Amino acid sequence: MKIQAINGFKDILPDNAGLWRRVEQLARNIFDRFGLREIRMPILEKTELFTRSIGAATDVVEKEMYTFADKGITMRPEATASIMRAFIEHGLHVRQPVQRLYTIGPMFRHERPQKGRLRQFHQLNAEVIGAAEPHVDAELIAMGRMLLDELDLQASLELNSLGCPACRPPFKTDLIHYLEQRLEGLCSDCQRRTHTNPMRVLDCKKTSCRQLVLEAPSMLTALCADCDEHFQAVQGALRNLDITFRLNPFMVRGLDYYTRTTFEFLTTDLGAQAAVGAGGRYDGLIEQLGGPSLGGIGFAMGLERLVLLLEQRDHSEHLGADTTDFALVSLGTTIDAVSLLAHHLRRQGCRAAIDYSGRSLKAQLKQADRARARFALIIGDDEWTRGEAVLRNMRTQQQQPFPLSGSPEQQSQRLAELLRSQPD
Ligand code: ATP
Ligand code: MG
Repeated sequence: MKIQAINGFKDILPDNAGLWRRVEQLARNIFDRFGLREIRMPILEKTELFTRSIGAATDVVEKEMYTFADKGITMRPEATASIMRAFIEHGLHVRQPVQRLYTIGPMFRHERPQKGRLRQFHQLNAEVIGAAEPHVDAELIAMGRMLLDELDLQASLELNSLGCPACRPPFKTDLIHYLEQRLEGLCSDCQRRTHTNPMRVLDCKKTSCRQLVLEAPSMLTALCADCDEHFQAVQGALRNLDITFRLNPFMVRGLDYYTRTTFEFLTTDLGAQAAVGAGGRYDGLIEQLGGPSLGGIGFAMGLERLVLLLEQRDHSEHLGADTTDFALVSLGTTIDAVSLLAHHLRRQGCRAAIDYSGRSLKAQLKQADRARARFALIIGDDEWTRGEAVLRNMRTQQQQPFPLSGSPEQQSQRLAELLRSQPD
């Protein structure tokens, strides 16, 4: 029987990998402009890290984690908790109190696979730790927006505040009271959430629940003075940067550690998977994990969703590029000379392909074409004796002689120069 990949786990094939790399490179470039530095953490962490940060009563921890129960370890479902663990473990704040960090990598959640929703998926994660000012929130959101803009992707921005340990508990009490009176109209998940995680009821996707919460108390009118001031300042700072947003008091993020500012970038082009990125402030998290009393804010963007959006917009764009500079065509008995030249070309930084099969000229040129080679360099026994190869421009089909004078190293240098002098 053929062995296939596990449901919800996907290969990224070579034709597609270029698009992935483009998104990752642009993200790194933009993160760099904003002064973020890369951090890489292990994929496995102690399970307790996630139960204590994300929260025991969240969907992620209750239903979605890949846990090795006998070993007490879990494959990370998100990156923020791991970044905070590393931040605390290495005392990163001691040398530099404000840490601006990013990471790119796979996350694991046992969800129902569908378009844009996988069990192994990839995120870009950006975090600014140790800075509580509202301008930081706006700057981080603006960075997410810049990435989407430079990828030329449309997404709307929704903004909310989830308050803090001073104003959220009394709000929750009010909310529970409101929900308890309408328990019958809620879905079974929300009936349970009413007591375990009442805020989550506010962003249930079911129509009946959505209707019911329309009149529910709003966190935005329940914010304490400090949280309200912070939220107003974030909005002002966003306007200052010319970032448009919509307030959405029903947006509650699925992870318990969020405080104050939360936001989502939403698209209408991916069906039910509307969120391309999301994040928020987590001012109590580091202390809760045993670290210093420092706040932070971050976001995560889903790479699969970004790539899908790019593919939908222009599905052939990533297939257009050359993959080889020189396809070397050896005919007759020249294979040793030709492979030495290929080796030197690669030393010169050129992409060189070589066909060892000894097939006909026609077959080798067809292969060069399929590989989207820029040039083919043909060296058969005749060319070798004459000391003159045939250089074929694969785009224009024009051929010119290429003298095989000097050492193979010198020949490769001349070919590299010729390549550099070509228009793109
Ligand atoms: P959703 O509402 O779509 O489940 P989420 O709120 O669970 O998203 P976060 O935990 O905030 O998502 O993760 C941030 C981003 O990571 C999402 O906006 C999305 O782009 C991406 N993402 C989350 N879960 C998945 C998944 N299972 N497959 C692919 N991408 C995902
Ligand atoms: Mg989710």
